[in-house]
Amino acid sequence: MGIRIDPSIIAISFCVSNCKMPGERYIFTRVYWDNMTWGYCDICGKTLEAGKCKNDNCKSLQGVVIPPNIDEMNDSIFQYGVRFTVEKGTFDIMNERAIDEKMRLVIANHSGSPNYEYLKKLGPPMSVKRAKRLIEILSGLMARQTQTSRVFEERLRWTKYIRENYIE
Ligand SMILES: [Zn+2]
Repeated sequence: MGIRIDPSIIAISFCVSNCKMPGERYIFTRVYWDNMTWGYCDICGKTLEAGKCKNDNCKSLQGVVIPPNIDEMNDSIFQYGVRFTVEKGTFDIMNERAIDEKMRLVIANHSGSPNYEYLKKLGPPMSVKRAKRLIEILSGLMARQTQTSRVFEERLRWTKYIRENYIE
């Protein structure tokens, strides 16, 4: 299916119209995470699990340490934490959450990290610089797709989401 959803999430959804395929045309009315609404850690920006930050470095470094596989010519920042995916059947709300988390992450990698330069380009949390860089990364991923593909369309939609929510 290509859906990555934490099993602790219970989503209540209704089919909107002509729902023949499961996962299509669903609208989420409420999303619970152990009866808590979704939130992000005030300190490191990571998504909360059952209302708690599970980042081991939250207290000591006040941020997240991004693993070295997330780098320029490697995996994108969207492969970290809540993942951004445009595979078939993806629930849009997960992509919103993935993007919102990437906007909030406080990156605590030190200057000796192999991916330090890549991470530095992301700029500070919630900044226009961060938003623009996320769009740039999505655009880079789009450049590898044909412009008529569904994946391309989806990514275009998410660049719009970032622009509308974090730049304008
Ligand atoms: Zn935290």
